[in-house]
Amino acid sequence: MSDPFQLAQRLQARREQHLYRRRRVLESAQQAHIQCNGRELLNFCSNDYLGLAQHPKLVSAARQAMEQYGFGSGASHLVIGHSRVHHELEERLADWVGCRRALLFSTGYMANVGVISALLERGDTVLEDKLNHASLLDGAQLSRARFQRYQHNDLDSLRQRLEQKQGPALVVTDSVFSMDGDIAPLPEISDLCRERDAWLMVDDAHGLGVLGGGHGCLAEYDLSSDQVPIYMGTLGKALGSFGAFVAGSEDLIEFLIQSARSYIYTTAMPPSVAAATLASLELLESEHWRVEKLQQLIARFKQGAAERQLPMMPSDTAIQPLLLHDSELALQVSESLMDQGLLVGAIRPPTVPVNSARLRITLSADHSEGDIDRLLNALAEAHRSHTPRT
Ligand code: PMP
Repeated sequence: MSDPFQLAQRLQARREQHLYRRRRVLESAQQAHIQCNGRELLNFCSNDYLGLAQHPKLVSAARQAMEQYGFGSGASHLVIGHSRVHHELEERLADWVGCRRALLFSTGYMANVGVISALLERGDTVLEDKLNHASLLDGAQLSRARFQRYQHNDLDSLRQRLEQKQGPALVVTDSVFSMDGDIAPLPEISDLCRERDAWLMVDDAHGLGVLGGGHGCLAEYDLSSDQVPIYMGTLGKALGSFGAFVAGSEDLIEFLIQSARSYIYTTAMPPSVAAATLASLELLESEHWRVEKLQQLIARFKQGAAERQLPMMPSDTAIQPLLLHDSELALQVSESLMDQGLLVGAIRPPTVPVNSARLRITLSADHSEGDIDRLLNALAEAHRSHTPRT
């Protein structure tokens, strides 16, 4: 068979550059201690920051909803897939993040692509942080607007581009950067946008459930819907569920219902997923200790890493990357941690810029202090044995 796309050569090139990706097979629930490829591992790479993905209350809420609604949603939201429980979840989410209305999307990727491409047209301007999530960058490409990336978290770089903007402009940023763990200067970015009559969209995938006492980045910085007209949150990370939502004004949500193609032309998430997400929000409200415990574990990890002089990237969030630069080295360190029963992902280009391969360590309220100490000791040992002495 001919291969006009040269797949075999392209795969081989990836292997040679240590960029080949492989999947692991999870054989237990998503939690701190997992069973994976036949082994017990201590998991430091999920986004289940509050340890809710396996919570019995989410499971029983999903089960009860299945009794009432069955399993599949059967249609898109606009046809007949929008159930009472989806509707309740939208109202609860809007309230949780302090916005007028919210709209469910089947995934965060689809929410980002859908919003940006619905809002902007050829001739408009979209400005994005260089390190934004791939879905935000893809949304900008799809919109056909003038698209520029500004330097990471750099207000001067954003200001310069805003001064030259043409047509209506949207500025887009992650709140917590997914591979870096640092936080965008949202109040300052919002001020710049308002000075220049641009709208701001914030992707709070890694902030919701973690920042602002669990309410996300708007609560953390006391920002209103006027200051951040478009808020996007995902449900598959700290909330332990699946899917995403966009929150904002009445007009924004109505406009998206009419025009976001990734909203209109796709099947609604199963009602049981919406019910589990409602249960997750109830737990966030009634059992605040998870958000606090996560903060304590982050502080313990940071202090331990500083004492062991590990080259951590600056981050106060649940994402704590250890910068190694070289992809092969990142893989080797990740593999030697695995030999000790610790699962830490090696993140390599193109997910991160060339020469900035790293271990992406994620912490969860499901970890114990002992788990954190075990990780710190293993990291120090692995880092010492794999990096050349100077
Ligand atoms: N935005 C950010 C910042 C993310 O990290 C992710 C998921 N990795 C998404 C959006 C996409 O969300 P989902 O997984 O629900 O598609």
